[in-house]
Amino acid sequence: MLVTNPWLQALEHLGHGVMLCQGPEQRMVWLSQGLHAVLETAKPPAAAPNALLGQPLATLEAYELPATPQLQQAVAACLATQQVQQLSLTLFPPEKPRAYFQVTLQHVALAEPLHLGPLPNVDTAAPLVLLVFEDQTKMILTEKMRRDFVANVSHELRTPLAVLKGYAETLLAGAIEEPAVARDFVQTMEQHANRLTRLVEELLDLSSFEAEHFALELEPMALAPALQQAVALCQPRATEKTMQLRLPSSASLEALPWVLAQRNTLEQVLVNLIDNAIKYSPDNTTVSVSVEALLQQANHPATHVRVVVADEGIGIEAKFIPRLFERFYRVDKSRSRHLGSTGLGLAIVKHLVQMHGGEVGVESTPGKGSRFFFTLKLAS
Ligand code: ADP
Repeated sequence: MLVTNPWLQALEHLGHGVMLCQGPEQRMVWLSQGLHAVLETAKPPAAAPNALLGQPLATLEAYELPATPQLQQAVAACLATQQVQQLSLTLFPPEKPRAYFQVTLQHVALAEPLHLGPLPNVDTAAPLVLLVFEDQTKMILTEKMRRDFVANVSHELRTPLAVLKGYAETLLAGAIEEPAVARDFVQTMEQHANRLTRLVEELLDLSSFEAEHFALELEPMALAPALQQAVALCQPRATEKTMQLRLPSSASLEALPWVLAQRNTLEQVLVNLIDNAIKYSPDNTTVSVSVEALLQQANHPATHVRVVVADEGIGIEAKFIPRLFERFYRVDKSRSRHLGSTGLGLAIVKHLVQMHGGEVGVESTPGKGSRFFFTLKLAS
């Protein structure tokens, strides 16, 4: 829609969706381009483009907008009372992605002072209602995420605390007098306390990575020492399960390229992935760490490498994979099953890899094993 009228141009640049409605039949006489685009996403494919102008507001019902009657009521109230009206509504039906809008309706006594003359459909002598649609989707979803996060953290803290309290009470009630039982209880308490400590540390890590000013200082470095160090750090846990941790041969390690990375965080990514590979694999299996050159285009030199951590473990069903890197997401919902589990490891991995300018991913076959990988930029 070409806008020549300066008033309408100003409305177009408000940054919100704007509509002008007129008369008791509530004809839509003008829509900003932004609002038009929003409504176009809602309409069923059969509706003609630009079909709304000059039509009554009720037409929006054919656009699958369940909130249309609410809008009609508000426009009628605005025309009748000449008072500002406000309402919050969701624009799309439940099966589409939610869009939350705050709509403010303002009565405009006559179209004349707005110089709306050149617009078709406008009766310059009749009152108008100006509707401003403020998109609050992002704010509402962020708020929901914050609430979910607080609820998750509380749950995660409450479970081990309840266990600690239970054991302490049992000890005080007499179990402390039986050394063998008492030792067992205190050991379990220590494990839970360790998990709590890890949870709090990982939460603090995540919030510091997410702070806006946090940036990694990437520098060219050899990849091999980071791989060797991470494997050495995980070796004791692998040994406990008589598992093998396999690196490329020394010759291949020496031939590995230099990458742009930050040593400590790169090691943390590797340790988290190798640690998971150990945790989610049966005894006597092997975890291999390997590196592949990544060609962006055929016949061009590689710009990235892909580091792969492969295990022969329980694997992950495809339906769980899209949410795997979310905070607190676990495939196995019984949260206490793995004592070492916080559900934050992969969220940290994803964050750190993205701060390296890379990507994370996973391929997995249930019952056979998983291949977690991430990319790193090559140092030029
Ligand atoms: P956790 O502390 O629970 O290991 P993560 O964020 O590291 O948290 O992993 C999230 C979930 O992803 C785990 O609970 C587990 O269900 C699944 N997972 C991660 N790594 C593997 C793997 N190598 N094999 C199978 N499942 C895995």
